[in-house]
Amino acid sequence: MRAPIASALAAALLLWAAGCPEPLDGADGGPATAGPAGRPPMVDSHVHLLPSPRALARALALFDQVGVTRFCAKSAGVPGSGRYRATLAVQRRLGERFAFFVNPDWDGFGQPGWLEREVGRLEVAARDGARGVKIFKALGLSVRDPEGRLVPVDDPRLDPWFEAAGRLGLIVAIHTADPLTFFDPPGPRNERHLELLFAPNWSFAGEGLPSKAELLAQRDRRLARHPGTTFLGIHLANSPEDLGYVDRLLDARPNLLVDTSARVPEFGRHPPAEVRAFFLEHQARILFGTDIVIDEDSYQLGSLSIWPDEDQDAVRFFQAHRDFFETERRGLRHPTPIQGAWTVDGIGLPREALDRIYRQNAERLIWKVR
Ligand SMILES: [Zn+2]
Repeated sequence: MRAPIASALAAALLLWAAGCPEPLDGADGGPATAGPAGRPPMVDSHVHLLPSPRALARALALFDQVGVTRFCAKSAGVPGSGRYRATLAVQRRLGERFAFFVNPDWDGFGQPGWLEREVGRLEVAARDGARGVKIFKALGLSVRDPEGRLVPVDDPRLDPWFEAAGRLGLIVAIHTADPLTFFDPPGPRNERHLELLFAPNWSFAGEGLPSKAELLAQRDRRLARHPGTTFLGIHLANSPEDLGYVDRLLDARPNLLVDTSARVPEFGRHPPAEVRAFFLEHQARILFGTDIVIDEDSYQLGSLSIWPDEDQDAVRFFQAHRDFFETERRGLRHPTPIQGAWTVDGIGLPREALDRIYRQNAERLIWKVR
């Protein structure tokens, strides 16, 4: 192991071990209907589940233990694919406890037939019960047209596709850009050094790539162009570093909601009174989500895993979220230590706002619960 990796790992491990609260109890078998130990139930609106029997069994055991009553898979794959068919089987088995979003296939974008093919797949997805479609960060950063040019998020050739999603009632979950520091040069002075060491392809500091500000501007023009399409700006609209920006965007775009996934470490760094005020003001349009990845034998807990995450780590991951949203404790270990060696301060939301963000907003938006 290289020395910088070893020292950065050691720092992250120390932080992880510091102040780990007692584990959650309350696992009593059977589907969760409430949170553990009297805590409120959660809906995880943003998970990535490998649709295999073994991964599903692990997911259900975890969610029952931590009080997740429903969950939404954001990577059901391309309609017609094996992953998609396996996700439909999960849907048949779990019914209303589960929902899924499909993904577009950029292969052949800009060539004749791409639009018809992909709109056709959206129609299949809607017919099969998909609640939305999720766009990964590739759009804007790596998808290229036949001439080799990067395809901007607001490329007009995509307009009919976004309109079709809206017409079909599919929510568009959109991931544009990434943490601000991924656009700074990697290296020991980058505050996400550890993460970039293990995922060097997450660095977008290279030449020829748009800046984060440019990517968000492309995304925001896209939101403005389709008032009839509902967008879910995942990762707090990818601007957790600037809550004022998200505040103004939510005010300007009534067709936008946001989720909290994988960004507690980032928005949790701001003064807790400011974060609390933001969450209270927008409590009807924020969905709780974690971005947990559940595979056959592993998890990813808000980012890539650099050591094998055990079941107990996944339980602590949810507990760290609860500690942040439900308590006003200062200096909390955040859910995903690889994202940076700092702590966050709990925002202690009142029960009513908590229930909206944890559960009601997702049930209304994704499950159409009235
Ligand atoms: Zn995700």
